[in-house]
This record gives sequence, C-alpha cells and structure tokens, in this order.
Amino acid sequence: MDGTLLKNQKVTEEELIAGGYKKYSGEDIDIFYNQSVCQHAGFCVRGSADVYEVGRRPWIIADNETAQRNVEIINTCPSGALKFIRKDD
Ligand code: SF4
Repeated sequence: MDGTLLKNQKVTEEELIAGGYKKYSGEDIDIFYNQSVCQHAGFCVRGSADVYEVGRRPWIIADNETAQRNVEIINTCPSGALKFIRKDD
C-alpha cells in the first residue's frame, strides 16, 4: 500500500492527525501510525526491529533507518496504518 496516500489522495499531515494518526518525527521523514487501523501483521517490525520496537517508547524511531528504507517498509504495511511524509525531497 502506498504510504503517501489516504483514500487515494496524497496525504497531508493535518489530514493524518485529524484521522487519528500519531506522528513520529525523523530528520528526513515523518512516520505516522494509526493504532486503530493496524492489523498487527508485523511487516513493520520484521522490516526493521530498530525502527519498530513494540514496548519501547516511542515505539517508532524513524532515524534508525534511512528515509528510503523507511519508505520501503511502510509500503509493505497491508492495512494503511503506516503513512509517511518525506522532508528531504
Ligand atoms: S505492518 Fe502495518 S498493519 Fe502490520 S503491524 Fe505494522 S503497522 Fe500494523
């Protein structure tokens, strides 16, 4: 699923926050996560245990991977619970 889209439209931070997503800021990319959408399929954790660590606070640390790697992982999320906005392009 394309992590830049929400309802087939390019997402904005305002829409994500209004839609219940929580923001995890990184230097080159912000990751957004919506717990109520998550299907707990675990693709994120398997993609990077350094970025996604259940039980850690914050459980998402974007800067533990490159922005490009974050994009690849987020796009494997099947539910749409993960979205991103790049700040480096
Ligand atoms: S990949 Fe998406 S649906 Fe699966 S656990 Fe991570 S956030 Fe939830």
